[in-house]
Amino acid sequence: MGRLGNSLCAMALSLFAASSGNAATLVEPTLHLKPQSGEGGGRVALTLDACGGKTDTRILSALVDNRIPATIFVTGIWLKRNAAAVEIMRAHPDLFELENHGGRHIPAVDTPRKIYGISSAGSPDAVQAEVESGAAALASAGGPAPKWFRGATAEYSPSAIAMIRKLGFKIAGFSVNGDGGSLLGAKETARRIGAAKDGDVIIAHINQPTHAAGGGVVQGLLALKQKGMTFVRLDDADGIGNDGTTD
Ligand SMILES: [Zn+2]
Repeated sequence: MGRLGNSLCAMALSLFAASSGNAATLVEPTLHLKPQSGEGGGRVALTLDACGGKTDTRILSALVDNRIPATIFVTGIWLKRNAAAVEIMRAHPDLFELENHGGRHIPAVDTPRKIYGISSAGSPDAVQAEVESGAAALASAGGPAPKWFRGATAEYSPSAIAMIRKLGFKIAGFSVNGDGGSLLGAKETARRIGAAKDGDVIIAHINQPTHAAGGGVVQGLLALKQKGMTFVRLDDADGIGNDGTTD
C-alpha cells in the first residue's frame, strides 16, 4: 500500500468530522466492555491497528516490558512485511490477540464511494473478499482463527455489517480515539489514552514508528497502569457494540 496508503489510513479517523456529509449513510460503531462492579481501578481494552507499513517498536516493547495485553488488528499487507513483530507477538500469546483488519485495508462499504479519499470495497463480493482474505492471511501466519473484524477507516455500510456478522465475525468499534489516526501529537495522545475510564475500548495505531503519537500511546498506557487500570483483550471481555456489530 506504500506511503500514500499509510498516510490515508492515518488521516481516516482524524478527519471523521470533516467528511461526515460524504459519509452520511455510513456508521462508525462504538464498542464498550460490560462494566464490572467492585473491581479495583476498572478495566479497558487496548486495540491497535496495523494497517500497513512498519511496526512501532516503542509501543511493542512497552507492551511486552510492562505486560500490557492488547488486541492487534492486522492486515494481510502488514503481516507480509512485519514478520519479526509477528514473531514477537506470537511468542507472547498471553499478551497479544491478533484479529482481522482486512486483506488489503479496503473500507468495508458495499457501494462504490470514497471514504477519506480511500475507495470503498464497492460491492458485497468485494467486502466479503476483504474480510475473508484478512482471515486467510492470519491463518497462514499461524495461530488461532480471528473472531473480530475491524474494517479500514472503521466505517461501514449497515448492509456490510450484516454480511460480516454472517461470515462469523464480531465488529470492533471503539469508545476512545487515542491517537487520531496516529496524527496527533504525543501530549494529546497521552492525555486521551490516560483519561480512559472503566469499560472503554481504546483505538490507536502500531504501524507508524516515525509519528510522535506512538510515544504518547506509551505514556498514556503507563499512566493508566499506574492508576491501577486492568487491560483486557477483546476475546477476554464481553464487548457491547451498537449498530448490530456484536449482538
Ligand atoms: Zn487501518
